[in-house]
Amino acid sequence: MRQEERRCALVTGGSRGIGRAVAVRLARAGYDIGFCSRSADEAALETARLVAEAGATAHHVTCDVTDAEAVKRFVGQAEEKLGPPYAVVNSAGVLRDRPMALMAAKDWQAVVGTSLDGTFNVCRTVLRGLITRRSGAMVNVSSVIGVYGNAGQSNYAAAKGGLNGLTRALAKEVAPYGVRVNAVAPGFIETDMLDGMTAKAREAALGKVAMGRFGSAESVAELVAFLLSDAADYITGQVVQIDGGISL
Ligand code: NAP
Repeated sequence: MRQEERRCALVTGGSRGIGRAVAVRLARAGYDIGFCSRSADEAALETARLVAEAGATAHHVTCDVTDAEAVKRFVGQAEEKLGPPYAVVNSAGVLRDRPMALMAAKDWQAVVGTSLDGTFNVCRTVLRGLITRRSGAMVNVSSVIGVYGNAGQSNYAAAKGGLNGLTRALAKEVAPYGVRVNAVAPGFIETDMLDGMTAKAREAALGKVAMGRFGSAESVAELVAFLLSDAADYITGQVVQIDGGISL
C-alpha cells in the first residue's frame, strides 16, 4: 500500500493475546497501528516489533482504558503520529472469576470497568472524528460468556453482555454516518487469559467445544480484519461468535 493510502487502526489491549494478533493482522492489511496496554513491557515491545516486521508503523501508548483522560492521550498521540483512525478495536479485557456471593467489589469493577467503561471511553473519544469523516469501522471483543453466561463469571458475563448491547445500539446510532460497529464473541482462545484454568477446568471446557480444541488468537484476528474491511461493508450491529461450535 502506498504511504498516502495507509490507514490508522487503534487497538486496545494490543500488547498480548487477541489484541496483538489483531495488530499484526491489520498491519499486514496495510494499517499503521496505534495500540495501548496498561504496561510498557516486553510484550508491548514485541507487538511493536511484529507490526514493524509486517511493514507497518507501530505506536504504543501506556494507557489504562478505564481512565478517560489516559484514553484521550492515547488517541491523541496515536493520531498525531499515524493520522486519524479509520479502524478501532476494543480488545482490552480482564478476568476476576468468583461466585457472586464471594465477589469483592473491586473484582466486579475491574472486569466491568475494563470492558464497558473502557470501550465507552474509547468510543466517545474517537466517534466525533469518525462521524465527521463519515467513514470508519469498530470491532468490540466480547465473549460467548456475554451470550450464555457462566457460573463464577457474573462480572464477565455482565461486562460482555453489556458490550453486545452497546455494539447494537451504537451501530444504529452511527450507521447513518457511514460508520459500522460490530462485536466478535470468541469461545476459548489460547492466550494468557486462560493461564489460570486448572487441568480439570480445561477438560470440562473442551467437552463443550464441538471441534474439540481451543481457538487461536490469529483466527479471531482474521474475523476482526474481515469485519473492519470493505468486504464487510453491509455488516453492522452484529455479535459474531467464533467458538469452535460451543453454540451448537
Ligand atoms: P490477554 O492475553 O490477557 O491480553 C489482555 C490485554 O489487555 C493485554 O494487552 C493487557 O495489557 C490489556 N489490558 C488489560 N486491562 C487493560 C486496561 N485496563 N487498559 C488497557 N489495556 C488493558 O487476553 P486476551 O485473551 O487477548 O483477551 C483479549 C480480549 O478477548 C478480552 O476482552 C477478553 O475478554 C476477550 N476474550 C478472550 C477469550 C479467551 O479465551 N482468551 C475468550 C473470549 C473473549 P496489560 O498486560 O498491560 O494489562
